[in-house]
Amino acid sequence: MLGYPRIGPDRELKQAVEAYWAGRIDAGQLERTAAGLRADVWRDLHRAGLTAVPSNTSSYYDQVLDAAVAVGAIPDRFRRLGLSPLDTSFAMARGTAEEPAMELTKWFNTNYHYLVPEIGPDTVFAAEPEKILGEYAEALALGVTTRPVLIGPATFLLLAKGDNPFGRLGDLVTAYADLLTSLGDAGVPWVQLDEPAYCADRTQAEIDALRATYTYLGGLPRRPRMFVASYFGDLGDALPALLRTPVEAVGLDLVAGPGGLRRLAACGPIPGKTIVAGLVDGRNVWRTDLRAAAAIGAQLKGLADDVVVSSSCSLLHVPADLAAETSLDAQVRARLAFARQKVDEVVLLGRALRDGVATLPARPGPAPAAWRDDAVRARLEALRPEHTSRGPYPQRAVAQQARLRLPELPTTTVGSFPQTDQLRQARADRRAGRLDPAGYAERMRAEVEHVIRFQERLGLDVLVHGEPERNDMVQYFGEQLTGFAATEHGWVQSYGSRCVRPPILHGDVARPGPMTVAWSTYAQSLTDRPVKGMLTGPVTLLARSFVRADQPLADTARQVALALRDECHDLEMAGIRVIQVDEPALRELLPPRKTEQRVYLTWAVEAFRLATSGVADATQIHTHLCYSELGEFLPAIAALDADVTSIEASRSKMEILDDLGAAGFARGIGPGVYDIHSPRIPRQAEITDALRRAVAAVPADRLWVNPDCGLKTRGYAEVEQSLARLVAAAAQIRAGA
Ligand code: GLN
Ligand code: ZN
Repeated sequence: MLGYPRIGPDRELKQAVEAYWAGRIDAGQLERTAAGLRADVWRDLHRAGLTAVPSNTSSYYDQVLDAAVAVGAIPDRFRRLGLSPLDTSFAMARGTAEEPAMELTKWFNTNYHYLVPEIGPDTVFAAEPEKILGEYAEALALGVTTRPVLIGPATFLLLAKGDNPFGRLGDLVTAYADLLTSLGDAGVPWVQLDEPAYCADRTQAEIDALRATYTYLGGLPRRPRMFVASYFGDLGDALPALLRTPVEAVGLDLVAGPGGLRRLAACGPIPGKTIVAGLVDGRNVWRTDLRAAAAIGAQLKGLADDVVVSSSCSLLHVPADLAAETSLDAQVRARLAFARQKVDEVVLLGRALRDGVATLPARPGPAPAAWRDDAVRARLEALRPEHTSRGPYPQRAVAQQARLRLPELPTTTVGSFPQTDQLRQARADRRAGRLDPAGYAERMRAEVEHVIRFQERLGLDVLVHGEPERNDMVQYFGEQLTGFAATEHGWVQSYGSRCVRPPILHGDVARPGPMTVAWSTYAQSLTDRPVKGMLTGPVTLLARSFVRADQPLADTARQVALALRDECHDLEMAGIRVIQVDEPALRELLPPRKTEQRVYLTWAVEAFRLATSGVADATQIHTHLCYSELGEFLPAIAALDADVTSIEASRSKMEILDDLGAAGFARGIGPGVYDIHSPRIPRQAEITDALRRAVAAVPADRLWVNPDCGLKTRGYAEVEQSLARLVAAAAQIRAGA
């Protein structure tokens, strides 16, 4: 396995990390919990029959953050705080009262988020192998020889930000050489270096640098054998480059990048190399068709001296163990494999490649007929181009302003308000039967009223109901649409201690009835100010679910969009004037290579428009995206044709606004003015500064004022102060101050 879930079967690590942050346990207790979880994984994988078990896959927050620490790349602003190593890492991840956190961004096309290393000309690299060696020794003491996993130096710098980070490769490689030498001296037999950045388009110079890097590291006299792993696509021209270096093993993701097989064949004979064949999908939850996978493995055996079977990527992206799911639909369950089951699949496939395929179980049969919905299919067949377009934006803007009468620089939030302990308790009580559905709904209505009054008091212009009734923005819809199944324990890490439980989309999607109308109309009944209806967009519902593998994703997206279109219609009929359809994951599904991106963007944009274009001109459509490096992606965002788009912008210091002007993005835009991923409360002057920069780049009548993202992970005390400052800053700028 290229990596394994680290949060524990029941999110034990999350609980411990949060308890440490809250001061309920000390560093020693946290360390013991993490060590116990690591030990359980090593023992379990070893016993399952894996010939090679990964280590250094455990992390208190993020493996990229750990890699930065391992090469000494701790920005001075955090070093200066003089904290313990553990608290320094947490300060980098979460910020402190004085220092904003490092930037958080998506890990390739997944819903995992990593902390972006800050690398400048002055970054001093130095090998810090303690964590890696420590874990190796812990496992060894249990009788398990592990293979430490590290991010490769080239990918590390390609993921970093700063003044030409990649220009520092030579210096960084020196630190990696020291790391590898320490591992070699400790007797570590193999190390895994992940270079997934090479499954995306790379320049010839970057590929040459990869080759030079591994040629140099390969020449180190005292090093472990090196396995360079790749995933989320195929290596393209980086494959022959790597094969010409002394690395002993190269890994291919044959699930996301099936073309790797052909490419390998084109490389000709590759004596002495091991090919690690990623045949078991590390990103999705379906059982592997083991016979088909074995057939690919057999072809590989003709090409390489030695073939090893692996997962296609780290199993960080799938839940731990299907055994924990006791109430899943039996038909669904029979088709699933979570991390633990995937270990067994890899072991079985490995044996099959050695001993012949007769021992492999057949794949599950075709999907049950009950999962098909002919009515939905017929409606999709009948769609025409007018179902994905609205009136021209200027005309809509006039109609909307006549109806909404908003001030310049309207203030709003992205949707969710703090999920308090009382809310979580109410959910737990409902699950345990201590609270009946009516009692639960009553509590949620009280919360909505509280959130509305709170926003009125603060003076926000466009209100939200706060989403208290939603456990999660995807799960909530998954539970109400047909075609989705929910798990009980299927947790996956999203960032830091935040975990999500993605639904499993297995059949045709339909909407048995309105999903959000009662909540939105109740919230609107409490106030004269507009309350936004709040939906999750089709691409995000797919990106945050495990999706079916038996039809193109574009087809599934259209089914979901149709259900959302009906919901938009019902919201509008119920008097809701503003509807926000969140697409924070639009970029997550973007294929790594340019050649495939256009096709994806075409269907993704079309699905959003199918969902949102059924409303009148005077109904304002908002969308929210959770990132800021839009760059070339901007035309696609404009093509969504939303009236207002809110985006992440504060961690990246409003850099995005420069692109906006250049791309001629002529719609409403709300660049997030403060970072909600950090507990730090922004100073009012920071918000006014951000707004001044925004006003310089965007006409005032198209600029909105909002935080970076939803507030559900924050506490009310912070939110109150932060939003008060946001409203005051908007007033200050409106007044021309
Ligand atoms: N409306 C959602 C919220 O505020 C959006 C969350 C997101 O962008 N990830 O929670
Ligand atoms: Zn967001």
